Amino acid sequence: MIVIIKPHATPEQLEHVLDRIRQLGLQPMVSTGSERTVVGVLGDERLLAEGALESLPAVEQVMPILKPYKLVSREFKATDTVVQVRGIPFGGRQIQVIAGPCSVETPEQMRAAAAGVKEAGCRLMRGGAFKPRTSPYTFQGVGDEGLDYFRDAADAYDLPIVTELMDVRKIDLFLEKGVDIIQIGTRNMQNFDLLKEVGRLDVPVILKRGLSATIKEWLMAAEYIAAHGNHRIIFAERGIRTFETAYRNVLDVTAIPVMKRETHLPIIVDPSHAGGKAWLVPHLARAAIAAGADGLLVETHPCPEEAWCDADQALSPAQLGTLMGDLRKVAEAIGREI
Ligand code: PEP
Ligand code: MN
Repeated sequence: MIVIIKPHATPEQLEHVLDRIRQLGLQPMVSTGSERTVVGVLGDERLLAEGALESLPAVEQVMPILKPYKLVSREFKATDTVVQVRGIPFGGRQIQVIAGPCSVETPEQMRAAAAGVKEAGCRLMRGGAFKPRTSPYTFQGVGDEGLDYFRDAADAYDLPIVTELMDVRKIDLFLEKGVDIIQIGTRNMQNFDLLKEVGRLDVPVILKRGLSATIKEWLMAAEYIAAHGNHRIIFAERGIRTFETAYRNVLDVTAIPVMKRETHLPIIVDPSHAGGKAWLVPHLARAAIAAGADGLLVETHPCPEEAWCDADQALSPAQLGTLMGDLRKVAEAIGREI
C-alpha cells in the first residue's frame, strides 16, 4: 500500500499520518522525492482499512499496489515519467544518446572524446573513472583524478556527465564534482547498501540490468532506490548472459516493451556491452530505438585501437556520427526525434 502525501502538507500533518499508521501496528516508510512524498506501508495491509487514512488532511490518495515493486510500477503512475538531467529529458519524445569512452584515461583523451561526442550531436557524455573489471590484474580505472579530467573535458563542450559509482565511500567525491548521472553498473545491481545510499541522493541514477537479472529483480533493485527517496531512475538494458558465446551478451530487446509496460520510468539501451564488438553496435542500437528505448549508452574513443578498456567495442568518432544519422531516421519513423 502506498499513501501519497499532498504537495503542501506540513511536516506536522505528515507526522500525524505516520503516527496513525504506527498505531495500526504497521510500519511507515517515507520516501521524499524532489516532486512528491509518498509513504510505503509495511505489514498486514488489511489493517489499514480501519485507519481511515484518506480523511487525514495530508493524504492525497491511498493506493493498493499488487505488484511487489510499488513506486516504480505503472500501477503507481500510469503516465511516462520524464527524468530531467540539466534540462535534457529522458523518457519523452526526444531520444538521448550518451556517448563516451569506456574509461577515463588522460586529459587529452577525454578532450578528444568530448569533441567527438559533441560533434556527433550527442547531448551527454559517459566515462568510467572507477572500472569494475573481471580480473584484479587489469586496469582498474584512473581513480579520483579521472573525475577531474572528465569534468574539465565535458564542461568545455557543455556535456552533462555519466559515470559509475561502485563504492559508497566515493559518494562525497561524486557530489563535489557534480556528477550529473550516477551509473550503477551491472555487477552492482543488487548491491542493496549501495542502492539505499544513492536512494538518499538528489542525483539521477542509471541502473544497469544485472548479468543474469530477471525483469522483476531489476525492478525491485530500482524500488530500493525509489523507496529511499530518489525517484529519478533510468533503467539500462545492457545484454544478459545466456548459453550463447558468439558475442559478449545477448541484447534483450524484448525487455524494452516489457519494461515500458511494467514501469513509468525511462529505459535506455547499451548496445556496446551487449554486442561487445564495434561492428555490432549500429545494428543493436537501431533495434533498440525501433523497439521503444528512450536512449542509448554508447562507447566511443578518439582512437579505438588504443583504448585502455573495451577497445573492441568502441566506435570511432566518425562511426558515432554515422550512427547518429541512421538513428535519426529510425526515430523519425516511429514518431520520435534524436
Ligand atoms: C560500463 O558501462 O562501463 C560497464 C562496466 O558496463 P556494465 O556494468 O554494463 O558491464
Ligand atoms: Mn566498457
